[in-house]
Amino acid sequence: MITLALSKGRIFEETMPLLEKAGIVPSEDPEKSRKLIIGTNQPDVRIIIVRATDVPTYVQHGAADLGVAGKDVLIEHSGAGLYQPLDLNIARCRLCVAAAESFDYASAIKQGARLRIATKYVNSAREHFAKRGVHVDLIKLYGSMELAPLVGLADAIVDLVSTGSTLRANKLVEVEEICDISSRLVVNQAALKMKYEQLSPILAVFAEAVGAGT
Ligand code: ATP
Ligand code: MG
Repeated sequence: MITLALSKGRIFEETMPLLEKAGIVPSEDPEKSRKLIIGTNQPDVRIIIVRATDVPTYVQHGAADLGVAGKDVLIEHSGAGLYQPLDLNIARCRLCVAAAESFDYASAIKQGARLRIATKYVNSAREHFAKRGVHVDLIKLYGSMELAPLVGLADAIVDLVSTGSTLRANKLVEVEEICDISSRLVVNQAALKMKYEQLSPILAVFAEAVGAGT
């Protein structure tokens, strides 16, 4: 049995075409079903539905053989024990620093101000500001980061941006880009050895589909 960990929403949707190329078709739509274990047309392949941030944990412990996780999630998780053979180039966005339109971020930095930064991505944020030589107090949030500068919880946020429409809707502007984000295939290292015959054709099809060769 091969177990693939995916999160609902964009990762599931954008992984589907790749799975189809490998001849794997889920027997249910996770948006419509409450089931967390979904079978496929292949009796020895199943999909488990987990939170995006939990994908590396399931794969690391071998509860899933492989999974798809955003680079943002992998940076925060450390990725220990995970083999990351492929950038799937899906769920693309960027990790950015954003602040209220009315906040003069550039001057605050120039003056050496200590900034309060709200984010779900504390490791990425810590590393970014350390490199820039900016002193920050990090405030861990689990969602709706855009709210923090509007109510005085933080001077700026570190968050994912794709179109920028959520920032605009909340009168925030992107002030720095940290890095580009896309989702990667993650594979349990022991499973790769033990189940090589079952896993390698899937990896090969994924590699070809994203133009990475094999
Ligand atoms: P939830 O939104 O349910 O709280 P989540 O934010 O962890 O959970 P998703 O929104 O599905 O889950 O995001 C999953 C992954 O998709 C993220 O880890 C990131 O890599 C990527 N992603 C997040 N937001 C965007 C976006 N606006 N555009 C493209 N990719 C994104
Ligand atoms: Mg989200």
